[in-house]
Amino acid sequence: MASRIIPVDVFDLVIFGGTGDLARRKILPSLLRRFRAGQMPKDARIIACARSPLDDAGYREAAAAAIAEFAGPEREDAALVAAFLGRLHYVTVDVTGDAGWPELAALMRPDAVRAFYFSVKPSLFGPIAERLHLRGIADADSRIVVEKPFGRDLASAHALNAALAEHFAERQIYRIDHYLGKETVQNLMAVRFANMLFEPLWNNHYIDHVQITVAETVGVAGRGSYYDGAGAMRDMVQNHLMQLLCLTAMEPPARFESDMVHDEKLKVIRALQPVPPSDIVFGQYAAGPDPSYREDVSNPESATESFIAMRCTIGTWRWAGVPFYLRTGKRLKARSSEIAVVFQKLGHRIFGESMESHRNVLSIRLQPNDGIDLQVTVKERGPGGMRLIDMPLDLTFADMAADQGEAAVDAYERLIMDVIRGDQTLFMRGDEVEAAWAWTDPILAACAEHDRKPQLYEQGSSGPDDALMLLHRDGRRWREIKG
Ligand code: NAD
Repeated sequence: MASRIIPVDVFDLVIFGGTGDLARRKILPSLLRRFRAGQMPKDARIIACARSPLDDAGYREAAAAAIAEFAGPEREDAALVAAFLGRLHYVTVDVTGDAGWPELAALMRPDAVRAFYFSVKPSLFGPIAERLHLRGIADADSRIVVEKPFGRDLASAHALNAALAEHFAERQIYRIDHYLGKETVQNLMAVRFANMLFEPLWNNHYIDHVQITVAETVGVAGRGSYYDGAGAMRDMVQNHLMQLLCLTAMEPPARFESDMVHDEKLKVIRALQPVPPSDIVFGQYAAGPDPSYREDVSNPESATESFIAMRCTIGTWRWAGVPFYLRTGKRLKARSSEIAVVFQKLGHRIFGESMESHRNVLSIRLQPNDGIDLQVTVKERGPGGMRLIDMPLDLTFADMAADQGEAAVDAYERLIMDVIRGDQTLFMRGDEVEAAWAWTDPILAACAEHDRKPQLYEQGSSGPDDALMLLHRDGRRWREIKG
């Protein structure tokens, strides 16, 4: 079955930072895939802007190199790549000065959707927004796309929001959290809200706890200077894990519409309780086969966490008494992201004490092998009495897509096309981001006050021992990190 392509309107997508790493690694390869899928209308254009003095031909050469390095198998199709490169244009623009803006303005077409992707450092968001507005390049229907990090605390996020709000309405601002573009994350909402089965059980009467894990095998080499000033809490928890928590915990919106979904997510963030330092474990990877964290960031004194585990609680009737355990880290044993909803034990065990260890677990895997499985307890086949085992009811979307001859759609492909369509559902609203920082800031401040230092952990492990204790002391265990 061919995937269903929902056509978008003719667009001019301007990428500020068009020669940067994100554009080369993600944005251009994603656009190539949408082009191959036939989703880009005939007259759609991509206009890259950066400081390098290039012309269209020079940029197309650079883009061809990026595609050769970072695109998937479609890069082998020379005719396809050549046709795609023909859609690319380039304007040399200094976003903090005056050069290049008149040329960019002259390229804009009145009848095309205008989208401006700010693939630059956040300190340039304000200057770009201002110039787009003052020079009349953006109109009331234009969209702007901004990347993470969106602030490093509430004050800086608020300042960024204010700088954008001076020139653009909230309905025009698309704050990317690429986790929201992942297929399984959307499927979490479908599973919850399109099935009779789960929603009646989705509360503290039936759910024991939730575990959200985002484990990476890579270290921070290459982005050390940024990472060392941020750490896992700012780089991963405040945004990605927070978004996963919100989608798991939110009340059903009245309709699946952008503002209604954002309103429900915001309520979850605001209901999150402060997390005391005793419910947080910081870790830092030690030297192992690869250099240590401190070597990676060239800071022998660094006390920044490359791992965090925490116990969160949500102050609502639905979730009273249900801990949400979050954990994320670098250089762990496998690359694996999942949300595991662990159901309670049965009240009465007709099969005796052997049932003690059996639980239903709904696991939503983001990577690898994105999919959902429900662990159910069944009888083991064969004679020998009533022996129980846990079996997964497995929906591996990657397999299903492959069976149907479809390639998996990358988060950036989906999100960029949502911008052109004008659908903000899978982006972060300004008040959501600020509420997430308002929750994060005091937690970090309390940890700093208690002088919480990260515990060293072995490369290729599941994190520091104290992280295991965080659950043990509640009589629970982390799920294994499996690749
Ligand atoms: P980069 O340093 O590789 O690229 C920055 C781009 O901005 C370059 O094209 C550069 O020419 C341009 N630029 C800088 N100053 C300019 C100016 N005054 N005028 C015009 N152009 C200017 O950075 P990147 O890795 O591509 O990241 C861009 C943004 O995306 C950052 O906010 C980053 O945090 C975010 N981000 C990047 C990644 C990634 O994988 N690289 C992932 C998530 C978020």
